[in-house]
Amino acid sequence: MNDLAASVLAGDRRAVARLLTLVENAPVEARRLLATLYPHTGHAHVIGVTGAPGTGKSTLVNQMTLELRRRGRTVGIIAVDPTSPFSGGAILGDRIRMQDVAGDPGVFIRSMATRGSLGGLARATADAIRVLDAFGRDIILVETVGVGQAEVEIARAAHTTVVLQIPTLGDDIQILKAGILEIADVLVINKADLPGTERVRAALSMMLDLGARSNDWRPPIIETIAVQGLGIAAVIDAVEQHLAYLKDGGRLAQRERQRVHDEIVSLLRDNLTARTLAALPEGALDSLVQRVCRRQIDPYAAVQEIIGK
Ligand code: GDP
Repeated sequence: MNDLAASVLAGDRRAVARLLTLVENAPVEARRLLATLYPHTGHAHVIGVTGAPGTGKSTLVNQMTLELRRRGRTVGIIAVDPTSPFSGGAILGDRIRMQDVAGDPGVFIRSMATRGSLGGLARATADAIRVLDAFGRDIILVETVGVGQAEVEIARAAHTTVVLQIPTLGDDIQILKAGILEIADVLVINKADLPGTERVRAALSMMLDLGARSNDWRPPIIETIAVQGLGIAAVIDAVEQHLAYLKDGGRLAQRERQRVHDEIVSLLRDNLTARTLAALPEGALDSLVQRVCRRQIDPYAAVQEIIGK
């Protein structure tokens, strides 16, 4: 089994594909292999790309990949679809991308979809990032459909998050949910060939003026026409500037400490919860649920009883 980890480190694409399948389907088995890889991670620049369906994420990721290849970088792409258990959207996205980057050994593409919980998907994505990092990819692009909590979770694993918007003519400029603006490091208005681009730029700019950010990086707003490959170099430049900003003054290291802290606490919580539930006598949880429903005890008391056991 450890051969698989060694093969990943040696640059074997098929080993990478097999390990990613393990990460998705047999996370517990994958853990030992991930432990072997872990010392070899921490080199890649992880870039999240998120936006509503149809905003042009796949097209943009394809173009960004071509530009990164022109700049001599190797690229790993993880297309995450939290909405579809069968990854229909992600597979379509792959087909579009494959036309341009298929056969390029400097590009590795993988789709991931929800199998169980959203938390499980976020964890699998974080592990997949580590695999591609250990594989030696310079840049890892993580594409997620913007549907809410999912991409916020997944964005935590990224150093730089690109959020896509498209022009609109409607009265209600339906802009980003607040949470998404908070995670944006680079704002892209794609489909800038369509009318309404200026309105969206003005609205985004105003939201940036009003919004309180936890740091002094102001996300640049960049217009692209991804289908024509226009504006792409500016996106890559912005993403690189953001990385330089993070590296400056130890921000990246600080962020990494926070992320690792959160990850350990989250794993601990899951682990202790699973163990506690597994140790309960048969039917004990059900009977507590019933007593809470009957208003005999409240949920706090139920938890106290479980912990007491
Ligand atoms: P995704 O669902 O966010 O991954 O979006 P896709 O990349 O699949 O793009 C959705 C549709 O928008 C496709 O038909 C693209 O050809 C189109 N599209 C992407 N970029 C542009 C653009 O810059 N301008 C216009 N007009 N259409 C675009």
